[in-house]
Amino acid sequence: MMSNQIEGMFVRQLEERKRRLQDAASKSVDLSELDHLLHDVDEALAKISAGTYGLCETCHEPIEAERLSADPLIRYCVDHLSETEQHALEKDLALARQIQTGLLPKKGAILPGWESDYHYEPYGQVSGDYCDIIIPRDNHDSFFFIVGDVTGKGIAASMLMSQLHATFRTLAGTGMPLDLLMQQANRTFCEASLTTHFATLVCGLANSKGEVQISNAGHCLPLVLRGGSVERISSSGLPLGVACEGNYQTIGMKLESGDSLFIYTDGLTESVGKSGELYGEQRVLKLLADKSGFPLTGLISACVDDLNSFGGTTGRNDDLTIMALRRK
Ligand SMILES: [Zn+2]
Repeated sequence: MMSNQIEGMFVRQLEERKRRLQDAASKSVDLSELDHLLHDVDEALAKISAGTYGLCETCHEPIEAERLSADPLIRYCVDHLSETEQHALEKDLALARQIQTGLLPKKGAILPGWESDYHYEPYGQVSGDYCDIIIPRDNHDSFFFIVGDVTGKGIAASMLMSQLHATFRTLAGTGMPLDLLMQQANRTFCEASLTTHFATLVCGLANSKGEVQISNAGHCLPLVLRGGSVERISSSGLPLGVACEGNYQTIGMKLESGDSLFIYTDGLTESVGKSGELYGEQRVLKLLADKSGFPLTGLISACVDDLNSFGGTTGRNDDLTIMALRRK
């Protein structure tokens, strides 16, 4: 059942549309197309009176709310679109994916004293994971690295991902300290996102001397690889968007030549194995300890390969991001 408030909103939208169409009809010579559009609006208004508005005409289930608010005249749920509509939707999604791919950092970018690599794999066409490396314009001796995960997946999550991208890209150029940057990013995200959505995220700042600061907003713990040992960086605050006035801690460390950082989203650890068990952090720790001598790209692909052999084709249920950084 649609709430009265939402129903009222649709009625207002539809009546406004009707008014504009009638206005256009009074000025137009070719009335047949306008008649057709007016007819659709009247039909929608009639359905509201009858209490059947917003239900798919094929299966009579509610149409997806975000699609309805984008176009109050649609009559079918996603499962029951016409072939033309289905194609249009697929084209839209493919374009969204292309745009999202364009937001990813350049692979093999030259960083001050570090090498980097990442694996970014949406579960569907688009991802709610945020993966970024930013060299501030005014300080080429340092760079930010970010891995985040917006709740949910699909289009809504990907829109919030691009919101995070814009926020961090803007803040990274301000020169503000990392804790304040996180505080500001949280406030911006909190004000812009629905109360049902938040993002876990790790943001770090590293420089050519190997000095690293890390701030963690409720995300899977980043890992440090030194020699054959793997340590968890166990400091964390609230996810972004949970409370607008949050404070964020930073933790500092120094990495030597050959030491690495490994950050991932829970698409890795929460993948499900063939007998229903989770991939889990322990398995990540063990794999990294075994393969710590691998080149970065090999380390990441060993991890992805292991994940694929663990869960097969059905184990994945979320977007996946893995980022690795190594001091030269
Ligand atoms: Zn349907």
